[in-house]
Amino acid sequence: MAEPEFTSASFNQFLGEHKLMASRCRSCGALWLPPRPLCPACHGEEMEWVEMGSSGTLLAFTTVHIAPTAMIEAGYGKDNPYCTGIVRLAEGPAISAQILGVDARQPAQIAVGTPLEVAFVERGEGDKRRTYLAFATPGAL
Ligand SMILES: [Zn+2]
Repeated sequence: MAEPEFTSASFNQFLGEHKLMASRCRSCGALWLPPRPLCPACHGEEMEWVEMGSSGTLLAFTTVHIAPTAMIEAGYGKDNPYCTGIVRLAEGPAISAQILGVDARQPAQIAVGTPLEVAFVERGEGDKRRTYLAFATPGAL
């Protein structure tokens, strides 16, 4: 069976199955997240999908008070800020996502290096319903 294309559409489809999938270069083994169809490291064109584990650590973060539309619809905004961050997975690649289980009103208490677990958040109604990648502090969900 042919691999799904290495696109954000495929990546999002996997998220809907609650799988965090990266592309791995068959030539040099580099992992890319979000997936890429070509390897930026060695220019290899042969990729394969690999599922990432559930653990990572917080590399950097920011709190968001001016929310984009999808997040406003999810109840976030000026009076209910949220945290978004870059998470380094145990496998090596890093990806940005919402960080759950931290208090975005108290950014000074959010620590780089915090261990996190993959979480999948369902948002939207009807046709707009989709799964978003997030990370949560252990025990937060
Ligand atoms: Zn490569």
